[in-house]
Amino acid sequence: ETFKDLGVCDQLIEACENLGWKKPSKIQAEAIPHALDGKDLIGLAQTGSGKTGAFALPILQACLESPHAFFACALSPTRELAIQIAEQFKALGSGFGLKCAVLVGGVDMMEQTKMLANRPHIVVGTPGRLLDHLSNTKGFSLRTLKYLVLDEADKLLNDEFEKSIDEILNVIPRERRTYLFSATMTKKVKKLQRVCLRNPVKIEV
Ligand code: AMP
Repeated sequence: ETFKDLGVCDQLIEACENLGWKKPSKIQAEAIPHALDGKDLIGLAQTGSGKTGAFALPILQACLESPHAFFACALSPTRELAIQIAEQFKALGSGFGLKCAVLVGGVDMMEQTKMLANRPHIVVGTPGRLLDHLSNTKGFSLRTLKYLVLDEADKLLNDEFEKSIDEILNVIPRERRTYLFSATMTKKVKKLQRVCLRNPVKIEV
């Protein structure tokens, strides 16, 4: 199976080839056609499976097709993972001027505020710092968000983040696509799934 078989556009196939991605990983092969079909996704997968590509490619394809302002937000439990997700978005989108901001703790707020002023297509962040910007950075909101990614959802739902996630969910449009990825299906993840996703397709690799 090729990326073309999955419905990925030529421009993104080229971006994959530039990264040395010759063919889709298992989770990509299973997730991408549903995502391109407009479905919400639940992916049970570990890091290393290619899950980032599984949600980044459909989002980037929508980004290429939409002529207007576009906004996707990916939430991750750790700085390192947020940075890795952003790196993959940037690498896949480098051919068409994709702008991606990373909002994580431990980094100067002002630098991130500058990135937000630059109107990124994609924002990747940890919950606390994202909320900081939603409260404090003028002109930044998630009101036009079209795609929400919850990565490592099991870890996003620890005591530290649970309240932040609730607050974030309260300020984003209901009319959106949501992709939830988790290594394990815990009770809390199931609850989040019920609140957050609409008729999701479940993929397990
Ligand atoms: P992830 O599980 O998303 O963190 O990805 C793990 C690693 O696999 C990253 O370094 C990706 O660049 C790489 N990768 C993702 N998709 C593919 C693919 N289809 N072929 C080869 N490598 C890939």
